[in-house]
Amino acid sequence: MALALSSTVAPRFLPMRLPKVCLALSGDTVEDMLATAESMAQDNPFIEFRLDYLKQPLAALPKIHRFLETHQYVTAIGTCRRADNGGKFKGSLASQLDVLTKAHAAGCQIVDLELQSAVKSKPEAIARLRSRAGLILSFHDFRATRNLDETLEKMLKIPADFYKVVSTATTLSDNVAMMKFLQTQSGSHALIGLCMGEQGIMSRVLSVRAGSAFTFGAVDANAGLKTAPGQVSARDLRGIYRIEQVDAATRIYGVAGDPIEHSLSPVIMNAALRRENVNGVYLPLHVKTLKSLIHCVREIPLHGLSITMPYKQAILPYLDNTDAHTTKIGACNTVVRGQDGKLYGFNTDIAGVVRPLEQRLSIENAKVLVLGAGGAARAAVFGLKERGAEVWILNRTAVKAQKLARQAKARTIKRADLRKIAFDVIVNATPVGMGNTRDCPLKDEEIQARVVFDMVYDPVETHLLQVARAKGISVIPGIEMFVQQAARQFEIWTGKPAPAGDMLRVVTIALQDRAAAQKQQKS
Ligand code: NAP
Repeated sequence: MALALSSTVAPRFLPMRLPKVCLALSGDTVEDMLATAESMAQDNPFIEFRLDYLKQPLAALPKIHRFLETHQYVTAIGTCRRADNGGKFKGSLASQLDVLTKAHAAGCQIVDLELQSAVKSKPEAIARLRSRAGLILSFHDFRATRNLDETLEKMLKIPADFYKVVSTATTLSDNVAMMKFLQTQSGSHALIGLCMGEQGIMSRVLSVRAGSAFTFGAVDANAGLKTAPGQVSARDLRGIYRIEQVDAATRIYGVAGDPIEHSLSPVIMNAALRRENVNGVYLPLHVKTLKSLIHCVREIPLHGLSITMPYKQAILPYLDNTDAHTTKIGACNTVVRGQDGKLYGFNTDIAGVVRPLEQRLSIENAKVLVLGAGGAARAAVFGLKERGAEVWILNRTAVKAQKLARQAKARTIKRADLRKIAFDVIVNATPVGMGNTRDCPLKDEEIQARVVFDMVYDPVETHLLQVARAKGISVIPGIEMFVQQAARQFEIWTGKPAPAGDMLRVVTIALQDRAAAQKQQKS
């Protein structure tokens, strides 16, 4: 059947310019695969068919052929990776080559053959395959990023149209190695390069900027539909990271933390960059060591960082200078790499506390109760004192509250005495209420103020805010702080006013989507 197919097919030529993102498509059955291809092809006209995921790849090819005949705008790669090399195909080498030859006959303009199979094949067989289809010669290192130049040297002995070198990032520094490799070698050879793994996400977005012909995107990175670890969805590569616009002039920013997977910062910051027409991209950076982060800042280079848990204090020794807020609070959440290459630290959590409150009342002389004495509470206490508020601190560990009160010239208060003061504002700077719990840092009858501000932002409406709202108290959800501290970061990095309204809208939608997805998972 496949032979008959090859004789009737008009050749589908490789377009001169390939899109920057290739959708990596897997599936248990060809019907599943094609249903996904059908629904996504309009936005993703470049598709890799992972034929090795199918039980009978040869039998599937006529259906793929029909799909490609009716979707002439699609450029297709046929891949049938062997199990030994990280794929699922368990047949012989000859049958692997047969599948790829017939994949071309079915309309795949490009086929991917891994180096290990190529070196075991007769050169004539590879030449025959390449005389028909564009050939990607690929190599995957599932353990590390090492010997990239030597690997390419070995690969170059086999003539191919693209050389694909994929490694695994075990530290952020591995992205630097991949970028340098692409920058130095892509002038002479058509390369595809990236690092797998959560720490390699940076390379998936930036490799095209460094010289990779294209990168790979997953169908849905959250639904187990990845074909490689750390893969980002094709939709996010285009929609959030605007990969089609990433070029040599693009400034790179990121959020550094551990864990980082659930950070909403990339969604909000990339939306702001797009809205304000800033040629920049903002990435999640899963930091295992600050040394590797600083290596990236210097070498990629990264122009700005949001610093989150657990590095807000640990980053301080790496900075050349810090603003007064960072020094007072003893924690930094924003880094800028100056034109002189020096690293400057800021703390924008103060703006995150003060700005939403200023919109509701005059802070000067306001009586404020701050719950907690950690990093976020410190930003609230110092920020509010700076604006002339009277501040009382209540913390689970009393000595920490006393220490902060001494430093900031604020007061402490015992829980039993809360009723003695008519507070204008209550700020929750503890994590109590985080997650979909019914937990609340205060009893219902203790919640008495004109404004209640909960720094917790997931869920958007905490129990504390529900009770306050029911009492007719004005409420400030934690997402306002999240947006305002991010807005201030945006201003520090770009010198432009931040589109705070848009940022709030984007983060609200993202949190709603997340809550809906969690609900769906539970049901
Ligand atoms: P942190 O430095 O770890 O401090 C946590 C504080 O909460 C400490 O004072 C701790 O008391 C207290 N605490 C922890 N668990 C408690 C419990 N079960 N009952 C009573 N008190 C408890 O954390 P952080 O960085 O300040 O963050 C605090 C909260 O603010 C987190 O929920 C964080 O997500 C949120 N936050 C939000 C934003 C935003 O943009 N919306 C920004 C920063 C922080 P002890 O001293 O007794 O340990």
